[in-house]
Amino acid sequence: METLTQTELHNDLINHATCEQMLEILSSYFGVEKPKLTWSRKPLRNAYAHPYSNSITMSSAPTSKLKRADVLLHEFAHILTHKKYIEPVPTIDRYKIAERFDGCYGRVRVLSRVRDHGTEFRQTLLEVVKVWYGDADKYEWKWEYKSIAKWYTKRK
Ligand SMILES: [Zn+2]
Repeated sequence: METLTQTELHNDLINHATCEQMLEILSSYFGVEKPKLTWSRKPLRNAYAHPYSNSITMSSAPTSKLKRADVLLHEFAHILTHKKYIEPVPTIDRYKIAERFDGCYGRVRVLSRVRDHGTEFRQTLLEVVKVWYGDADKYEWKWEYKSIAKWYTKRK
C-alpha cells in the first residue's frame, strides 16, 4: 500500500487524513463505497462502525491499546461484514439467516451477532488484515477482544 509509509502505519496516532487514505484504499480494493469517518472526543474503547449509514466514528481518546490503524481495520471489517452478510439479503428474509446460523435464535440476536464479533466478522477481519499488512501477524491481535485474540491464535 504505497501511499502510506511504514512509520505512519506504526504510529498509534495516525491522523484523519491518513485514516481517510486507508479507507479509500481498502474500499476500492473491496469494491465498496468508502465509509464516512467522524471523530468523537468521548473516551470510547476504540470506535464504532455504523453499517446502516456507512460510517465509522473513531475516538480521539481511545481507552484500548490497539493502535489506531488496527482500530480502523477492525471497524472497516464491521462495515464489510455487513455488506457481505446482511445487505444482499432482503430485509424480509433476514430471519432465515438467523435460522441458518443459530437454529432457533431470533432475528435481532443473530443480526447483532453477525454485526458484532462472530465467525463472519472474524473471517472478514482476517481478510482485511491480510490485504492491508500482507502478513496477518502484523495486526496486534493481543490487544483485540480476548475472544478474537484466542480465535486467531487457535487457528494458526
Ligand atoms: Zn467491533
